[in-house]
Amino acid sequence: MSAVEDNIRRIREDIAEAALRSGREPSEVRLMAVTKTVDDDRILEAIEAGVDIMGENYVQEAKRKIEKMDVDVEWHMIGHLQSNKAKYAVRLFDMVHSVDRTGLATELDRRSASAERVTNILIEVNVSGEESKSGVSADGATALVREISLFNNLSIRGLMTMPPWFDNPEDARPYFVALRELRDKIVAEDIKGVEMRELSMGMSGDYQVAVEEGATIVRIGTAIFGARVY
Ligand SMILES: *Cc1c(COP(=O)(O)O)cnc(C)c1O
Repeated sequence: MSAVEDNIRRIREDIAEAALRSGREPSEVRLMAVTKTVDDDRILEAIEAGVDIMGENYVQEAKRKIEKMDVDVEWHMIGHLQSNKAKYAVRLFDMVHSVDRTGLATELDRRSASAERVTNILIEVNVSGEESKSGVSADGATALVREISLFNNLSIRGLMTMPPWFDNPEDARPYFVALRELRDKIVAEDIKGVEMRELSMGMSGDYQVAVEEGATIVRIGTAIFGARVY
């Protein structure tokens, strides 16, 4: 068994245990392999091990891989997206996790319309309020969801967040709780056309805690592929 396969098996076990601990079904949680800087051979190992969502941070890198590899998996955009790349993003990705402003949503909607498709998106929320982070503020999230819900060619599926980095994953828990509570608050507003099924949260260091708090997609790079070499 390859190291990648072995890592994935262990992560799946951890996810299942975390789900059961919190009274959830393991099947409610999908594992995304975060493939920035990862070469094609190791991505194929992850696919062979059954991972069916790949997460990429950069449009150019993703475009090269997606066109060359031609594999039957979902590709999700998880990195900061510039509006001028929206045209490529709607053609390449099954879901964009990093929508955090009206300008970007406007471009994604416009480009989706010309490609005659509806793009699935998540709203990225900066729960911690750190200045270095992308994402709409928790206070501004509901208004942004309302605005984007009016676009015909975007479908809001849920929320995404990236908490600050901590040594102790327990320290990330309040941020995951905050995203879940924000989701519940938006659901209670019952905004037409808005689905809040997905909570994209949890990375290599803290995915078990994220699953305990309701994650439906965990985004994992290092724990699958080892440290990234840039
Ligand atoms: C790189 C990245 C990840 C994966 O991080 P790891 O710690 O390597 O698991 C997850 N989400 C986003 C948005 C990332 O940029």
